[in-house]
Amino acid sequence: MRWGTFSRPGAWVVAVGLVAAAARAAAAPGADYPIRPVPFTAVQIADGFWSPRLETNRAVTVRHDFDKCETTGRIANFAVAGGLAKGDFVGLFGFNDSDVYKVIEGASYSLRLRPDPGLESYVDEVVAKIAAAQEDDGYLYTAGTIPTLAQKPTCCVSRPRWSDIASGHELYNLGHLYEAAVAHQQATGKRTLLDVALKSADLLTRVFGPGRRLDPPGHQEVEIGLVKLYRATGERKYLDQARFFLEQRGNAAGHTLYGAYNQDHLPVLQQKEAVGHAVRAGYMYSAMADVGALTGDQGYVRALGGLWDNVVSRKLYLTGGIGARRDGEAFGDDYELPNRTAYAETCAAIANAMWNHRLFLLHGDAKYLDVLERIVYNGFLSGVSLDGERFFYPNPLASDGERTFNMGQKGRSAWFDCSCCPTNVARFLPSIAGYVYAQRERDVFVNLFVAGRGELGLDGLKLGIRQETRYPWDGRVRIVVEPAHPAELALHVRVPGWAQGRPVPSDLYRYAEAETEAFTLAVNGEPVKPEIVRGFAVLRRTWKAGDAVELSLPMPVRRVLSHDKVAADSGRVALERGPVVYCAEAADNGGRAFNLVLPDDAPLQADHRPDLLGGVTVVTGRALALQASEDGRSVATREQDFLAVPYHAWAHRGDGEMAVWLPRRVKLDFAVP
Ligand SMILES: [Zn+2]
Repeated sequence: MRWGTFSRPGAWVVAVGLVAAAARAAAAPGADYPIRPVPFTAVQIADGFWSPRLETNRAVTVRHDFDKCETTGRIANFAVAGGLAKGDFVGLFGFNDSDVYKVIEGASYSLRLRPDPGLESYVDEVVAKIAAAQEDDGYLYTAGTIPTLAQKPTCCVSRPRWSDIASGHELYNLGHLYEAAVAHQQATGKRTLLDVALKSADLLTRVFGPGRRLDPPGHQEVEIGLVKLYRATGERKYLDQARFFLEQRGNAAGHTLYGAYNQDHLPVLQQKEAVGHAVRAGYMYSAMADVGALTGDQGYVRALGGLWDNVVSRKLYLTGGIGARRDGEAFGDDYELPNRTAYAETCAAIANAMWNHRLFLLHGDAKYLDVLERIVYNGFLSGVSLDGERFFYPNPLASDGERTFNMGQKGRSAWFDCSCCPTNVARFLPSIAGYVYAQRERDVFVNLFVAGRGELGLDGLKLGIRQETRYPWDGRVRIVVEPAHPAELALHVRVPGWAQGRPVPSDLYRYAEAETEAFTLAVNGEPVKPEIVRGFAVLRRTWKAGDAVELSLPMPVRRVLSHDKVAADSGRVALERGPVVYCAEAADNGGRAFNLVLPDDAPLQADHRPDLLGGVTVVTGRALALQASEDGRSVATREQDFLAVPYHAWAHRGDGEMAVWLPRRVKLDFAVP
């Protein structure tokens, strides 16, 4: 890398940390994550939980999102910028381009899962408009190219070029373009969008870098995209560019620091506390993991360790959501985890999942997958309706049924002016198959329990691996291995933290019951007690086709308590079963949820309801319902039937109260913090 004297027009400045950076830049040629994911294209999901969601995403959400991008002018902006149509820039935001890119990414993943000539040719048409909108030197940003903006006021728009890197979104858009381009090329074999992306990235490397523009993007994302271009092409300059952007953060030599909101208050390697806008942070941490893995720079690994500890110990919702504050869509202080006003943006959950997956690939520790699993079954999945056409932007853990918390709506919405979340769902859902398995030489990791089949190539050995399970409703998992010939392998089967008495890998949440019924494992019917290494049961032996592992994870209904410092959960209890977090909704509990009290000795059981909410396991029992006296000085209680549904499936039956955390004792104040 070209670290040295940096310049920008009118001023000469010297890079800080020159020697250390140069030494790090030279590190570890050919380095990468020690563990490789088995790509989603090699994993076929065939289960009762994710398969319907994937099909809905393919058949409904991707098309719905494209339709919205059409009707809101997002796609027309490309045609206008490219001279294919007449008009003005339409929309309120300069980052509208990114929505189109994200849906193309989601459509590409869907095309890999199931060919769809109609969808593929439609994507070709959209790509042609994008290519037309690209200026001759590679510049691509419709709000910058179209000369007039039709609607005012506009937000986050940079004109002229690169004039507002701190709060505009030219670079953010491009990150999503690069991710989409790689996905499109891998799905279709076509280079049409990839060529656009590379021309754009080459322009970036000419504009930003040592001796050129030194300001990092205000909204991180381009770094992840650049790393994907590096992986797709082998061109080191794209990785260097990603690293350059990361290392300009917190470096006042070259730009006025943006501050904590943009994680530009300290050099990234010195950041220890998760602060500011949660989506920006999650994308940045993901890019830091990529750059750390690909350069072998342990400074990134150490920094991420501190940031992860901070999030998981103090800033993580039980649902896996992050970003407590609506103001600034930001992390709160330590233990600031309000329920009713929780922001917990769907995009932040996605970014958190991406980051935790990368940390698993770095360290091989299942604690990161415990967080990932918590996100995908709860705080991410709540973001999209069962029918695939309605979305949450924030994902609060309580609702009074009256406040419009979802950008003016009480329930999920079909779209938003700022529609980052619906389009992020479209691309993230089909990628979940890529989180199920991983490998390292002759080590195979079973990370998530999803019925279906994976095809692995291990040092020349072909290995099929099949799971049979009704997870997450049932904790019994049968894993059948099918190596092409008998071979010695280590099968690492994740034993979730929740099955070992730890809901999260920190003291932020704990189970009320100390006792945990032990999980069991058997190989070909013989019980085994293998060593547990970093959260995985390690089964090392010579495996032959048809050998079967049976994992049994007891799934009692568990009561969860939070750390005493989380004021919002004080005196309250939440319910989990397996990886699923539950909530009480008015629709199931006599029209209210905020008046419920769940004493510690109230009996609870699980019951599968195939006809409810697409088929869910519910928690039933008896609870106390409170009725305040008219003067508010006393309460009457009565016992009534209680029912809790999976949190991810809430808000499908009209507006009403919902609560994840319920009081354990009768008290006068019904308010939910
Ligand atoms: Zn979003």
